[in-house]
Amino acid sequence: MYYFLYDDHNSKNEAIYNENETKKEICENCGGIQTSVKGIYNFAIKGELCDCYDVASDFVISEKFLNVLRENSYTGFEVSETSPVKSTNMPIDEKYYLLNVTGRCGLLRKIDGELFPYCRKCHRKIGSTGLVTTGVTFAESEYDGSDIFAFNNLSNVPIVSEKIKDVLLKSKLTNLRFVALNEWEYSDRILKRSVFRRLEKNSVYPELIEAWIKNGVLTEQELNEQLNKRK
Ligand SMILES: [Zn+2]
Repeated sequence: MYYFLYDDHNSKNEAIYNENETKKEICENCGGIQTSVKGIYNFAIKGELCDCYDVASDFVISEKFLNVLRENSYTGFEVSETSPVKSTNMPIDEKYYLLNVTGRCGLLRKIDGELFPYCRKCHRKIGSTGLVTTGVTFAESEYDGSDIFAFNNLSNVPIVSEKIKDVLLKSKLTNLRFVALNEWEYSDRILKRSVFRRLEKNSVYPELIEAWIKNGVLTEQELNEQLNKRK
C-alpha cells in the first residue's frame, strides 16, 4: 500500500505562504500556470512548530524530519533552504527545508488505470473536467523505484510506502496525515451552465471537451448545438 503525505493542519496550527520571488510559465494550450520560487523560500508558521507543512502547493519539513529521511538513506528528494517566520513576523531559530520530490511514478490514473484528464502540451492535470472519483493508481512501469515519489502531474504531494509511513510515525514526527492512494477522494464537479458558458466564450481546448463528454457533463449533441450556434 502507498500513501500520500499531507500535513494535518487546523486553524490554530498551519503554515502560510509569504511573498516570494517567482518565475511563471503559462501553458498556451490549457492556460495552466507553472510557478517556481526563486531563491530562499519564505513562509510563516502559525501556532506551535510542527515537523511538516503544506504551504500553498509546497511541502516544507523540519530539520528533524530531514534527519529521519537521511538516516534511513531514503531516495527521491532534494531540499532547499527556507526562511520561516512566526505569523507575528518574528524569525524562527529552527531550520525548515523546502522538500522537492524528484522520484516519479508517471501521470495520475484512476483506480481502473485510466489516465486523469491532462494537457497534452504541459502534461498538467486539467481542472473543471467534471471528474469525480475515489482512488488513484500508478503504472508500475512508470515508477522509478524512489523511496519518496510523486505523480508527474501532482508533484507537490509526496508518496511513501507503508514501511516508510511506519518509520515516520515511529520517529514521532508531528503534523503528518496519510491518505491511502486507493482512498483518495477527487471531486472536480462543474455545472452544465458553466460548461455552456465556456463553450460560448470559446474558453476551451480539446482535452477539456473530451473530458466533459467522457464524464457525462456534456453530450455530443449538446456540443454540436453549441458549435452550430457559434457559426
Ligand atoms: Zn497545458
